[in-house]
Amino acid sequence: MKTANIDTLCVHGAKDEGNVTGAITIPIYQSATFSHPSVGISTGYDYSRLQNPTREALEKTMAILEGGACALAFSTGMAAAAVIMELFCPGDHIVASEDLYGGSVRLFNNVLAKNGVEVDYLYTGNIGSVRDRIRSNTKAVFVETPTNPMMQITDISDIAKLCHKHNLLLIVDNTFFTPIYQQPLKLGADIVLHSGTKYLGGHNDTLAGFLVTNREELAERLRFLHKTIGACLAPWDSFLILRGIKTLAIRMERITENASKISAWLERQSKIENVLYPGKSGMISFVANSTETTRKILSGVKVIAYAESLGGVESLITYPILQTHADVPVEKRESLGITDRLLRLSVGIENVEDLINDLKAAMS
Ligand SMILES: *Cc1c(COP(=O)(O)O)cnc(C)c1O
Repeated sequence: MKTANIDTLCVHGAKDEGNVTGAITIPIYQSATFSHPSVGISTGYDYSRLQNPTREALEKTMAILEGGACALAFSTGMAAAAVIMELFCPGDHIVASEDLYGGSVRLFNNVLAKNGVEVDYLYTGNIGSVRDRIRSNTKAVFVETPTNPMMQITDISDIAKLCHKHNLLLIVDNTFFTPIYQQPLKLGADIVLHSGTKYLGGHNDTLAGFLVTNREELAERLRFLHKTIGACLAPWDSFLILRGIKTLAIRMERITENASKISAWLERQSKIENVLYPGKSGMISFVANSTETTRKILSGVKVIAYAESLGGVESLITYPILQTHADVPVEKRESLGITDRLLRLSVGIENVEDLINDLKAAMS
């Protein structure tokens, strides 16, 4: 039998094996602990930091969507990223995309550096330059594709081949494309990272993070770190993300349709100098002709909210220089093009004409 397509998998997720009630949705098991039937016997659930049935259903669903053997749900995307970094030891070296989510840069430059792990940033779209940075102590390559906010693309299959040749872990932050548009494990990545707060949850109402892997020994280490560090997703939040995932495919379809139209419209505006849109999903970065235009847009939008975050049904616009990328060193920001004229738009599922009219009115 042919396995179901991804839109069907989003709706049905993992089957609730123990369900005897016929409930269509996974119940919220709001329990911190679970009783044992007798000495040395467990129901499979002991304590919710180790495992909880609602979180487990979500984790299995994420493993299915990303084509992984194991998925772990965290309280935030950053908690998931911080747990990956526990795989490394003082003296280790990591090569990373130069244009990363600001929180990842903050984690690498402060926490990781303090622990003696060095991160080397570069444009990972060029395989030759990644190869040149590999040293004897290099342990991993950390890639965001497309990057945030400059939309740089890295070919995951190419970089996976390079990583495996040198015995390096390939970690891919798949927050922007989601498994609907990109399944990094199938392209050779070892670990997929997600901020579930964004497209997976999809409603700007819940924080979550994920790690997914298809390598059993890695899964075991990550599971150990997950339960030991304890930044696991709560049952209620797990339920909300599961509910969000049911509509992921259809949201991505609408979001891509809206974003394609908006990016084409932005390209035609005389006050907009450059538009960066990777052709799918809902993230558009664009450069205005002046700081004044940037400020007019930010304070003039009414349908679109001037707010951090992305990936929800509501359209949001951010000013990376003051928000998501405020902690990225100035020289770094400038060399990447993250200036005071750059805006980042997360397109939602509203009517596209209303979104365009909103931008038009704010700009004029
Ligand atoms: C938001 C985001 C994160 C961090 O996730 P949180 O859920 O906010 O902790 C990591 N990577 C990318 C690409 C993001 O957009």
